[in-house]
Amino acid sequence: MGRSSKDKRDVYYRLAKEGGWRARSAFKLLQLEQRFQILQGVQRAVDLCAAPGSWSQVLSRHLRGSEGSPAQVVAVDLQAMAPLPGVVQIQGDITKASTAQEIQRHFEGHPADLVVCDGAPDVTGLHDLDEYIQAQLLLAALNITTHVLKKGGTFVAKIFRGKDVTLLYSQLRLFFPDVTCAKPRSSRNSSIEAFVVCRGYSPPEGFVPTMENPLLEPEAGLSLAALPGPSRAIVPFVACGDLSAFDPDRSYSLQLRAAPCAPHRPPLQPRLPPAPGPPPGPPPGCARGHV
Ligand code: SAM
Repeated sequence: MGRSSKDKRDVYYRLAKEGGWRARSAFKLLQLEQRFQILQGVQRAVDLCAAPGSWSQVLSRHLRGSEGSPAQVVAVDLQAMAPLPGVVQIQGDITKASTAQEIQRHFEGHPADLVVCDGAPDVTGLHDLDEYIQAQLLLAALNITTHVLKKGGTFVAKIFRGKDVTLLYSQLRLFFPDVTCAKPRSSRNSSIEAFVVCRGYSPPEGFVPTMENPLLEPEAGLSLAALPGPSRAIVPFVACGDLSAFDPDRSYSLQLRAAPCAPHRPPLQPRLPPAPGPPPGPPPGCARGHV
């Protein structure tokens, strides 16, 4: 038996089969619940990147709802999923504004208490690229979450603990005062996968959620520039350098080919034959003593 097929049959794989879970990942969400009680009091939940549906199964089995109003679960994935009782399914892309609108329609304008995302792109095997794409998917999940999550709500998402993970933590901390990175027992030790549990959703004052992606939609830049307050980052722009230095957009005479500011006493200089012709004059901006 090959190594990969043996790995798939670990204890969680067998337990998932026995318990009727669609994937062994169900245990990751169950163990996160055990530690953080993220499902307590949840009435409306969104499962992003849900297929084949084991996290949606956990949500639909554990969410109680309240008297006369059952819990609502909306599951989104690019792939179609076999139906699940009590779960509304959207076959769509979490990076699209239309998907956010569809979730809002199902909740009749009410915000969700919980958004979970176990999203994973197809891995390429190139670690840097895989980490980058996973981070982009996490940011897309955070972005759509800002459209549908209630203030004070919880966001749980898969994260790869790569070398730039602290940048992601900082971005999450802008929206959630309480961010923890958790590794459920059922997540393989050999994997850099973990889960961020972000509680107490509280976007910056004046933040306007937007699904515009300036990298994918070039025209989006125009409307991003029009966003107010903290939704638009403005950094100071300063021009620097001595105005008498060379202008990079102008042509200069070949006479100036010598380095504008040669190093002080180059080590080989004494051994070099003297250059033919008169030495070039000092370029503008370089005092004679520097040459
Ligand atoms: N949590 C699921 C479960 O328990 O059954 C497993 C999720 S699986 C590891 C990752 C899923 O992310 C795949 O089904 C994939 O189609 C989905 N996905 C990746 N990118 C997506 C995107 N942009 N929009 C929606 N789903 C996406």
